[in-house]
Amino acid sequence: ASIFENVPTAPEDVIFALSAAYKADTVPEKVNLGADQILVNDQSLDHEYLPILGLDSFRKASVKLILGADSKAIAEGRAGSAQCISGTGAVYTGARFLSLHYPIKGATCYISKPTWANHRAIFEGVGIPVKEYPYWDPVSRGLDLKGMLATMEEAPNGSIFLMHPCAHNPTGVDPTPDQWKQIADALEAKGHFTFFDTAYQGFASGSLDKDAYSVRYFAERGFEMFIAQSYSKNFGLYSERAGNLTIVARTPEIKKSIESQIAKIQRAVISNPPAYGARVVSTVLNDEKLYSEWEDNLSTMANRIIDMRKAVFEELTRLGTPGTWDHIVSQIGMFSFTGLTTPQVKVMKEKYHIYLTDNGRISMAGLNTGNCKYFASAVDDVVR
Ligand code: PLP
Repeated sequence: ASIFENVPTAPEDVIFALSAAYKADTVPEKVNLGADQILVNDQSLDHEYLPILGLDSFRKASVKLILGADSKAIAEGRAGSAQCISGTGAVYTGARFLSLHYPIKGATCYISKPTWANHRAIFEGVGIPVKEYPYWDPVSRGLDLKGMLATMEEAPNGSIFLMHPCAHNPTGVDPTPDQWKQIADALEAKGHFTFFDTAYQGFASGSLDKDAYSVRYFAERGFEMFIAQSYSKNFGLYSERAGNLTIVARTPEIKKSIESQIAKIQRAVISNPPAYGARVVSTVLNDEKLYSEWEDNLSTMANRIIDMRKAVFEELTRLGTPGTWDHIVSQIGMFSFTGLTTPQVKVMKEKYHIYLTDNGRISMAGLNTGNCKYFASAVDDVVR
């Protein structure tokens, strides 16, 4: 007798059953509408190392995605890149390069208050001192532009400024085009270095071009800069670690030198970036039909979030909830800083079983047509 005699057979996973059925099908006209399938069917793929700076077609497409097809920096051969271990790796690689080659020794990197927690950890980890610039204004529940500009003016010449091009994490507050102009003026006047970190291109407005506005505007004005790009969110490739560091330099020669130094850094940290995620991204970015399908998907996702913002706002207005709630609709991307205080968040959790971070940040992705009224009524109760 077996000790496992009574183990029942579990039902097959439907998704895997579907691909198994596809595999077993012998009809030559069979079609599998999965993105990865193109890669699986490509007999030329192997498990060899990628070059140290990554998959060429992925790098070129990533630079074009963020700078735009008509970018002057690309046309002039001043835009380079390195495929990195997703957005985190791209920020790290850029930071490590700056720690070794930034001409102003001891320069400080300024990060927004608040920001993604890893920013401080990464820069401090490579020995670059970190300070904060004001960003979130709790009173207006919007951008503290004045504080931000004042810090840029007061910072020593040639400091490093790390900024989110769109869908700021965690506040959901982005500068307007006019505010970006003022920011660019302030940075230019003091010779500060711009380091963009974009993890949500396409996720904010639903348009890849619109979400790249700030980066393209800076490039047009001739800024030298680094841009860390992540495909975790907009491609759902979280575990594949697909990311890119785009470099915009003054001349093609300088770009080449920077790339050579980054290759040296990369060699010592990871040797070569992983292939699978980069191949998926490259396949989609370099195919007109797949690209437009991806754009449609992004727009569907972004618009669903925008609709949820409207629904919550309308319900709070209908309930006459005390306070102003315009920020719920004016904020953008996956996150919203509600303005709820830590004690209010505690009541949300204990009385309503609604879980959000203590700083009042919610993930908009967790709201749907079935629960947004419940959420609004809970907010209404805790702020009264
Ligand atoms: N930068 C920001 C602002 C983020 O919010 C994130 C992810 O949450 C990342 C970078 C990097 O993520 P990943 O390393 O998965 O690409």
